[in-house]
Amino acid sequence: MSNKPYSLITREAALSSSDGAGLRELIESKKVRLTPLRERVYHFVRHAKEKGISAYQILELMKKYNPNAKPTTVYRSLDYLQQAGIIVKIECCSKFVRKDNLSSEVMTLFMICSSCGTIIQHTDNNIDAYIEKNAMEYGCAVQKKNIEIRVICPDCRQKQ
Ligand SMILES: [Zn+2]
Repeated sequence: MSNKPYSLITREAALSSSDGAGLRELIESKKVRLTPLRERVYHFVRHAKEKGISAYQILELMKKYNPNAKPTTVYRSLDYLQQAGIIVKIECCSKFVRKDNLSSEVMTLFMICSSCGTIIQHTDNNIDAYIEKNAMEYGCAVQKKNIEIRVICPDCRQKQ
């Protein structure tokens, strides 16, 4: 988490080079519309890195910036950013993380460390094809392309 005063969060800070070209392209092509509020919420998710951040934690951070910040505005921003496909909610721990692969077409495997909570992302066309094929055999259309599995991450395995 950044220790900078939240009022210093500017568009440039929120959209740092670590976002790569993908997000900038989405914004420039108007597929993603970032209001100052959404940008700030995105900033907090991005800063949480691979640990992710809960809606409650985001609200607490927002309150430091704006004491009147309301849960509904935070939830709405989180919903929008999820729909836009730039952040993902990890259901098993209710944390939000920035999506590494911005393509909504690709299946992402989220490996969540049971010990430290680190979330590792992996995208792979093989998983995608496998899931699609099997879902089809049951006559199902795949709706949500995220898979969550519990793991013990390399760091925690070393400590064991
Ligand atoms: Zn771990």
